[in-house]
Amino acid sequence: MDQNMKYGSDYKPVPATSIKSGQSIEVLPDLFCHTIQIVNICLAGNPETKEFVLIDAGMPGSADEIVSVSEKYFGANSRPKAIILTHGHFDHVGAIIELVKHWEVPVYAHELELPFLTGQTSYPKPDPTVEGGMVAKMSPLFPYEPIDLGSNVLKLPMDETVPHLPDFRWIHTPGHSPGHVSLFREKDRTLLAGDAFVTVKQDSLYKVLTQKQEVNGPPRYFTTDWKAAKESVQELASLKPAVAVTGHGLPVIGEELSEGLGKLVREFDNIAIPDYGKYIDKKQ
Ligand SMILES: [Zn+2]
Ligand SMILES: [Zn+2]
Repeated sequence: MDQNMKYGSDYKPVPATSIKSGQSIEVLPDLFCHTIQIVNICLAGNPETKEFVLIDAGMPGSADEIVSVSEKYFGANSRPKAIILTHGHFDHVGAIIELVKHWEVPVYAHELELPFLTGQTSYPKPDPTVEGGMVAKMSPLFPYEPIDLGSNVLKLPMDETVPHLPDFRWIHTPGHSPGHVSLFREKDRTLLAGDAFVTVKQDSLYKVLTQKQEVNGPPRYFTTDWKAAKESVQELASLKPAVAVTGHGLPVIGEELSEGLGKLVREFDNIAIPDYGKYIDKKQ
């Protein structure tokens, strides 16, 4: 294992949290979702064979919590086969270095996300001026410098297969970040959407705190390419998912999901795209 991993120099714990923090949900018999402060991690796999994969890596400082949730579902000393990242924002890679050291497992991400995971490129600064309430105002606290996972991070296979999750394929869903991916399982139409869309209005501190459920566009303060974000949501809606677990908010199923996603597609410009902000050109 390449031991030379480091977080960005702006890496730090972030105080934002929600009432669901610390709670786990068995979404399906082989899919578990756990909320760390304001973000979700997923564990996908079979508790009987103890083979599983971790999707996303939580908030800064959450490694012990992620290990203990994994052991709760998959047994003492269990370890995932790999960690798959939907993207590399701080709230999805917050504990990854400790986890890679603890489990000695590879990390996979989309090729276009690798510069942010190998110390090469910073994400654009989160935009505190974007229309979007208190969380956007807090966003200057959010780390955006690249972390460096060295040779521990690998690019996802080009054929869209997901390592160690044979029933899933990855779908490139850029917009929120350049190499953002979602994972989809055809047989039961299960979608792990990362931040391509979320099920809470991530910009409202009240709604983040209470996790009031609503299908919404990607978190605004970090989204820079709204045209791509819209096309990504259209593509995910066209899959007609039956279950969706997103990076923020509770899992959504059935009619609530199909109606929410349908509305988001139809009214994307109003619901998702902020009226003002650094990365906004409404005429696009
Ligand atoms: Zn994100
Ligand atoms: Zn996020």
